[in-house]
Amino acid sequence: MQVAARMLRLGSESAFEVLARAKALEAEGKTIINLGIGQPDFPTPPHVVEAAIKALRDGHHGYTPANGILPLREAVCAEIHRRYRQTVSPERIVIVPGGKVTMATAIMMFGEPGTEIMYPDPGFPIYESLVHFTGAKLAGYPLLEKDRFAFRAGDLLARITPQTRLLIINSPANPTGGVAPAAEVKKLVEGLQNFPHVTVLADEIYSRLVLDGDGTYASFIPYLDQLQDRLIILEGWSKTYAMTGWRLGWGLWPAKLVDLATKLAINTHSCVNAATQYAGIAALEGPQDAVEEMRQAFRRRRDLCVAGLNRIPGLSCIKPEGAFYAFPNISKTGLTARQIQDELLEKAGVATIAGTSFGRHGEGYLRLSFAASDEAIAEALDRIAAFLSNRAPKQ
Ligand code: PLP
Repeated sequence: MQVAARMLRLGSESAFEVLARAKALEAEGKTIINLGIGQPDFPTPPHVVEAAIKALRDGHHGYTPANGILPLREAVCAEIHRRYRQTVSPERIVIVPGGKVTMATAIMMFGEPGTEIMYPDPGFPIYESLVHFTGAKLAGYPLLEKDRFAFRAGDLLARITPQTRLLIINSPANPTGGVAPAAEVKKLVEGLQNFPHVTVLADEIYSRLVLDGDGTYASFIPYLDQLQDRLIILEGWSKTYAMTGWRLGWGLWPAKLVDLATKLAINTHSCVNAATQYAGIAALEGPQDAVEEMRQAFRRRRDLCVAGLNRIPGLSCIKPEGAFYAFPNISKTGLTARQIQDELLEKAGVATIAGTSFGRHGEGYLRLSFAASDEAIAEALDRIAAFLSNRAPKQ
């Protein structure tokens, strides 16, 4: 048997591997604190759950249009208008089973041998995996601690080549929590006027998780006019409404790409399950208190986590401005990112993810998700401190 060569180029997400190992250790009777996986530890708001149950009771059991039911796409457009004062047609929205599917659709749409796709490094590992899958050139761009892990527009523009077809941006970012300042977003959009062959995929899945101030977010959506026909927005419900397991996301597509995105949906998943789509409407149209409560909780835990990490000799951590990840610098420990990930899990019972799981520029860093209880974070920090002090050479 021989599988297609492209299958062998697929990467993975270490978070799922670490989760499996953590479960195995738990089955052996160890207590593991899981700061590895990236999902809110809150339940989905009850009114959202009720809407799905009602949809099932009301008989919404069948296929839906591949691009999603119209009332959901209209609710997304109303949300876009509420947040960014932009009017878009529901025809440009494609509902998908999770934000990841918009990512896969866009990368498969643009990537092929002889082309280049730019993506953040460190960044969500599926970008690189899928770019590799398509045969496009891997054009990772570094995000650096000295820039608070935000992109610099000038750097990105300088990296564009005639072969660049797609530029992937992610803010707030996984795994660093970096948030692009509004001025850099504007500068990038202005600079892209010189590169009309480049389409932007803005992964805004954490847009409601800007942790400081009132949460105001520098989206690409206000630049729909300037980036006519070449801006794709990846958004969804997973992180905002604690709905990772429901599998629901939305993409805003240039009008001329909607049919292609929909055709890929028809060829793969047909549609998102109907009840989940009704839950999505309830989430967007219902009370938003739970969203704000989660944001406040993540801010408090971020502060706890960062302060605790900075008290541990050998570690230093800048304050992540968004999402729910801390990305401490571990280079002074003398361990590689992979070593510290493995040893913390096996010896200290703390699941974290090596920075290198997110690209080579992640060496020297570790990702900790602070989507966990205050007690779990405090206990994990104690265990990490004890582990590192036991390893340190005694004077
Ligand atoms: N984009 C980023 C940056 C993420 O971190 C994730 C999930 O971790 C996703 C997209 C995918 O989200 P979903 O679970 O909705 O597919």
